[in-house]
Amino acid sequence: MYNARSSKAVEFIDHREILDTLEYARKNKDNRELLLQIINKAKEYKGLSHREAAVLLESQEYNLQIEELAKQIKEKFYGKRIVMFAPLYLSNYCVNGCTYCPYHFKNENIRRKKLSQEEIRREVIALQDMGHKRLALETGEDPVNSPIEYILESIKTIYSIKHKNGAIRRVNVNIAATSTENYEKLKEAGIGTYILFQETYHKESYEKLHPTGPKHDYNYHTESMDRAMSAGIDDVGVGVLFGLYSYSYDLVGLLMHAEHLEAVFGFGPHTVSVPRIRRAAGVNPKDFEHAVSDDVFSKIVAIIRIAVPYTGMIVSTREDEQTRERVLSLGISQISGASSTSVGGYAEKEKAEDNSAQFEVIDNRSLDEIVGWLLRLGYVPSFCTACYRQGRTGDRFMTMVKNGQIANICQANSLITLKEYLNDYAGEATKASGEKVISDQLEYIPSPKIREKTEAFLQQINNGERDFRF
Ligand code: SF4
Ligand code: SF4
Repeated sequence: MYNARSSKAVEFIDHREILDTLEYARKNKDNRELLLQIINKAKEYKGLSHREAAVLLESQEYNLQIEELAKQIKEKFYGKRIVMFAPLYLSNYCVNGCTYCPYHFKNENIRRKKLSQEEIRREVIALQDMGHKRLALETGEDPVNSPIEYILESIKTIYSIKHKNGAIRRVNVNIAATSTENYEKLKEAGIGTYILFQETYHKESYEKLHPTGPKHDYNYHTESMDRAMSAGIDDVGVGVLFGLYSYSYDLVGLLMHAEHLEAVFGFGPHTVSVPRIRRAAGVNPKDFEHAVSDDVFSKIVAIIRIAVPYTGMIVSTREDEQTRERVLSLGISQISGASSTSVGGYAEKEKAEDNSAQFEVIDNRSLDEIVGWLLRLGYVPSFCTACYRQGRTGDRFMTMVKNGQIANICQANSLITLKEYLNDYAGEATKASGEKVISDQLEYIPSPKIREKTEAFLQQINNGERDFRF
């Protein structure tokens, strides 16, 4: 029985409710009156229910209006800034049997690796030398090779490394579902967002795709964000691996998950990720019958943007330059750049025979090329990590997004951190276009006081000082 406030996965992601929603969407896909009503509601920028979003997804009417609205919402809440991050793979040992991931324990064709603290140091320096300030830690699930103590020690190592002007200021963590006690330890270690993809919300398919290992337990996995938030981690990141099951089922499940967290904790997820299944050692996306086309993928992004306007949205280097460009305007607020999806792949390019990438990177450009590209498209690449360092997490953060106050500090912080990047890491061409964007964008900081202070910070950065933030 569907109950958004229930603590049980099968009740807040009720299968029957999803089927009824999809049926309702099919019946109403040509109901112009209802469609317009939903679009008008979305124009209030307060989001949509999973049922309303499902109708828009199913319908082929008003696709242009939906895109336009997504663009407006993106512009209103996120402005021009695009936050940059990089994944850091610590270990590819894994006890699970996920059929779509080359790290599954039965795969004997990849070299298993786990980084020592010294190797992590080298990786972090390589990332800092590119200009990264924000990481997402990734690791397979293995209580022997990567227990929570290893993760905690690695986080400590990462935060402690200061190389030249480099620093990793926010470590987001993407590790397997774990206990409330372990989430408390992660909170204590100062993580940014705890990220865990649901993969698919369809229980039966989930169990088939995860035939063995602790991840097989759908309920434990689906209820993990509740444990993380109860443990005090305010910022959680959800996501679906599009292509594993029907995208409409999974989009409805994803929005129900967000509604559940909002109903129980008073605020929803901090971010939504939208990965699509990709080729990797032993994984061919063609073997998965639910592949999502580029057009559908863009529509999914637009609908998430209008359904949960206050939630950041992330796209990785799984997507090519053209797709990334298209979805940036529709709602994406964070992208990875110059990613290595191998263990130890930043300090040393991995040998072909190691074959240890978790998935194929499609966008292979350097960070400088990506920053230059974003600038040319009119965006402000941002290396900002300010919010959680200023205690702006959870409902405090959401309130600032909802009342528009975040625009002041986001714009200012993005210009400050872009300036640091330009002074410390950028090539000549990027530097020139970045300086121009900074001077053009200053006037869009709404508060004159913050604008003035930002100008002073920019000057201080030129004088060699670093790490200013609002
Ligand atoms: Fe392990 Fe995660 Fe890959 Fe599954 S998806 S095999 S849990 S690393
Ligand atoms: Fe993100 Fe906060 Fe920085 Fe804006 S100010 S980019 S919301 S960390």
